[in-house]
Amino acid sequence: MNGLMMDFPLTITSIMKHADSVHGDSEIVSVTRDNPRHRYTYRDAFRRTRQLANALAAWPLESGNSVATLAWNDYRHFEVYYASACSGFVCHTINPRLFPEQIVYIINHAEDKVLFVDPDFMPLVEAIADKCPGIEHWVVMTSEEHMPETKLHNVLCYERLVHSHSDDFDWPEIDENQACALCYTSGTTGNPKGVLYSHRSTLLHAYATLMPDALGLAHHDSVLPIVPMFHVNAWGTPYGAPMVGAKIVFPGNRMGDGETLATLINEEKVTRSAGVPTVWLNLLNYLKQSGKSVDSLKQIIVGGAACPLSIMEAFDKHGVETRVGWGMTEMSPLGSANASYHEREKHSPESFAKLRQKAGKPIFGVEMKIIDDDGKALPWDGEAYGSLMVRGPWICSGYFKLDRTDAHTDDGWFETGDVATIDPKGYMAITDRTKDVIKSGGEWISSIEIENVATDHPKVAEAAVIGRYHPKWSERPLLVVVKAQDGADLTPEEMLAWFDGKIAKWWTPDAVEFIDELPHGATGKIQKVDLRDHFRDYAFE
Ligand code: ADP
Repeated sequence: MNGLMMDFPLTITSIMKHADSVHGDSEIVSVTRDNPRHRYTYRDAFRRTRQLANALAAWPLESGNSVATLAWNDYRHFEVYYASACSGFVCHTINPRLFPEQIVYIINHAEDKVLFVDPDFMPLVEAIADKCPGIEHWVVMTSEEHMPETKLHNVLCYERLVHSHSDDFDWPEIDENQACALCYTSGTTGNPKGVLYSHRSTLLHAYATLMPDALGLAHHDSVLPIVPMFHVNAWGTPYGAPMVGAKIVFPGNRMGDGETLATLINEEKVTRSAGVPTVWLNLLNYLKQSGKSVDSLKQIIVGGAACPLSIMEAFDKHGVETRVGWGMTEMSPLGSANASYHEREKHSPESFAKLRQKAGKPIFGVEMKIIDDDGKALPWDGEAYGSLMVRGPWICSGYFKLDRTDAHTDDGWFETGDVATIDPKGYMAITDRTKDVIKSGGEWISSIEIENVATDHPKVAEAAVIGRYHPKWSERPLLVVVKAQDGADLTPEEMLAWFDGKIAKWWTPDAVEFIDELPHGATGKIQKVDLRDHFRDYAFE
């Protein structure tokens, strides 16, 4: 017998309507190129969103067509998110850090019809426009007085477009399974692959991020999403914050600038924020140099890559909880979060240091398992390493316009490409990417664990471990280090001695190489393929 409950579609239109009517006074503050501190309310935002929706309706777009963005985190990008998706179009966010050829590929693959572009990216679009014949309009996200000179055709000014339309708009009824957003993975090999989110998946993911042990946003919070809206929807914050009416502080193109971040935090009373490890390093460096503090900040979520313990301990001193989150583009992105901070009294300092660095417990809605090479499920004992598999309502079931790939199994699981352990309490820890694992004498070595220990050395700015050929063990770890500014005198011997007692002896790298810079990809991750290529002919002595 079925329940007798209303069949109410789970659409992000409902998030917008709710925020408009219930949290209309909550603020959205943005840094933009034409205004260092733009400030308005959700009510204003959704009024302009309706104006923009009228503008989109005036063009010959059809339901399901893609509207692309090349933009920073700011209020105009927020308006495009809702105007496009709630009109039945797909908001295709493009990562400007991809190679131009990749951007051309995804614009054409997604069949984007309109592209909203921040003035910062005009040189980029001017360089690729000829190769994107499907784009009918380029909309520059700025005011009329700040419109850049350009040789592009079909260029429109965002503010002019918004102001030339009425704010009266009837949002269409949308099936909850309809697509609302599209994001391509950065694809270290081959072309980027499109992940097509639905209204339903996006809404359920946003609900889940709001859980207290996940991002835990509340009405009284002021949230600073430093994770970009151009990659995996800024971890769902543009949807979660309006659900509860939290204030949003968008850092625009200043998200890599520690000083601006500290100023925004202090002046806008930011309580929670989310970002990759590098942005936290920038903020911590600025706080150290300036002697400033971030008193309002309660909690930060760190994800996208493993978080060095030194970052967590530095934030402890500022009274800020660091919470590790794990996920990926294919998972909307949140899969797990580590809220162990509140249990630190139950642990010794050493065991707490280990625990807090794990990727955390799967959040409700995400099922996980680890499997061996034969597909057999491995025990949750914190020791066994296996390929991490996930399933759930906000995990992609396939890639956009691609035949099924090996990542999806016949019995409905998605292979994340990560190798992990899961302990008896359900804490998952990423040890490697499948393609980066190091096998020494047939046994796996966790490069992430070695990197975590290495980056805790005060003279180390960044570190990566790769496997290189070894005649006896087939592969051994090579540690590649970028020295910290005041670490010029770091020697290989001092570096290797640092591992004594911190990791298994046989995991200690066989050699250390110093390098000026590590190769990074479009989402800021270290590109180990390039690093292995760089050390292609490396021979251990
Ligand atoms: P890409 O487009 O490069 O795939 P994603 O943001 O989807 O970018 O990257 C997801 C991957 O990032 C994960 O599969 C994992 O390897 C890594 N990652 C994310 N969060 C963490 C974390 N907390 N610890 C370690 N690795 C992480």
